[in-house]
Amino acid sequence: TNFEEADLDPLLRENIKLSGYTVPTPVQKWSISLGREGRDMMACAQTGSGKTGGFLFPILNESFRTGPAEIPATEGRNPYRSRKAYPIALILSPTRELTSQIFLEARKFCYRSWVRPCVVYGGADIGQQLRQVERGCDVLVATPGRLVDLIERARISLCNIRYLVLDEADRMLDMGFEPQIRRIVEQEDMPGVNERQTLMFSATFPRDIQMLAQDFLRDYIFLTV
Ligand code: AMP
Repeated sequence: TNFEEADLDPLLRENIKLSGYTVPTPVQKWSISLGREGRDMMACAQTGSGKTGGFLFPILNESFRTGPAEIPATEGRNPYRSRKAYPIALILSPTRELTSQIFLEARKFCYRSWVRPCVVYGGADIGQQLRQVERGCDVLVATPGRLVDLIERARISLCNIRYLVLDEADRMLDMGFEPQIRRIVEQEDMPGVNERQTLMFSATFPRDIQMLAQDFLRDYIFLTV
């Protein structure tokens, strides 16, 4: 099969074509159909397997169709509301390089759509990132530590999250990000496991990753590519 046959939103199909892809990789083919069913997924996939498209395609395919989410009425009393972002998708990834790559891919696939991608990572000026978040942030690509910082500053709310992605989960744990990841996923305003779709990617599947999958995913499909 090629992308033409993959029952994608026409704009997404067009943007994928513009980026030069013709045939979905196996992880992309699986994730597009799982995305349609709203199923959670744990994929053992290496860089080069096309895993970035593997989570961006199902998220954007559904989001282009459904349109933006409403900001909950309870947020209306918050005087800082206009400076706060309400992303619908959150992608956690371990490093500045990886988050930047995912952001650039997302920007290509979101071209001419309502979805505004946004990236934040540690070790860089937070002021500039805050201004970017304020300008619009529907799909947020973030390193865990910097995201915790933005949540503490009340600049990001997770209440509208429909899609949660943990990319390179084993590397995030190796880098000591587990407390921050748990803090984010267990945030009070983060929709629970039944209210969101969660996709997890890892090159390996050791015990600590199995535990994360157990805690963050619901009735998930296990995929090895
Ligand atoms: P990833 O595994 O997501 O890091 O992707 C590895 C490389 O493959 C990147 O340079 C992508 O742009 C490219 N790529 C991903 N999916 C496809 C596809 N369906 N067709 C052609 N190239 C792809």
